[in-house]
Amino acid sequence: MARPLTLITGASRGIGAATALACAREGHDVVIHYARDEQAAQAVATQATALGVRALLAQADVAVQADVARLFETIDREAGPLTGLVNNAGIVGAKARLDEVDAERLQRMFATNVYGSIWCAQQAVRRMSTRYGGAGGAIVNVSSVAARLGSPGEYVDYAASKGAIDTLTLGLSKEVAAEGVRVNGVRPGITDTGIHASGGQPDRAWRLAPLIPMQRPGRPEEVAEAIVWLLSDAASYTTGAILDVGGGR
Ligand code: NAD
Repeated sequence: MARPLTLITGASRGIGAATALACAREGHDVVIHYARDEQAAQAVATQATALGVRALLAQADVAVQADVARLFETIDREAGPLTGLVNNAGIVGAKARLDEVDAERLQRMFATNVYGSIWCAQQAVRRMSTRYGGAGGAIVNVSSVAARLGSPGEYVDYAASKGAIDTLTLGLSKEVAAEGVRVNGVRPGITDTGIHASGGQPDRAWRLAPLIPMQRPGRPEEVAEAIVWLLSDAASYTTGAILDVGGGR
């Protein structure tokens, strides 16, 4: 039987890289998508290949619709048919109150986190849904506990973008449920990745550990395991679910 083929966006590092490797361990062929860091993506692909699966490297800016279309055409040509999508690529801004956020930041945030997930989900549905002659599939959207907490004083804009992701998961799951496509989400809590440094708070994950019931940040691999389960046939009757993976936060 053909192996599942899963695209993980933003897979050169962090939760995306851990998810790509967890998928590979479960026998998925993987598409390691990256924005700029080809070398890091290549290193993840090499590790995946060593696990005995196929790994395709593919570049795109998920915020650009035409780039996403090109990404999926590359997958069709070089690997298809796609059976899984993990909408993981995302950004956070520097710590700021909402009244300090400028238009450029807001546009970039929503273009990446929300529009990017929608562009990818549209392309995936057009390939997986029985409505389009596909054989079914599964999508997992990476949200955040911020969608529930609101992140006041840090990044309400980011939290709002993740709230949109949760609604996308709920709505799309119902739209395609009878067409063989499951759509679920995970809400990571504070996870120890480079995103905090890119948001100007490199020590954030451990500084905020006392606020986490389990008293420590999560590891990317712990989020990856939840994603892999949601992609798998073990979750065959689970759709529209959004799983908190946040150490109790
Ligand atoms: P990360 O910064 O390590 O990884 C994010 C990835 O997204 C990077 O590979 C980056 O290149 C990619 N990316 C960003 N903008 C892109 C664009 N326009 N086009 C293509 N790729 C782009 O961060 P992470 O912590 O691994 O985050 C992964 C996901 O998890 C994000 O959606 C993030 O919001 C979410 N999340 C993270 C945490 C956390 O504490 N680390 C908590 C909750 C949710």
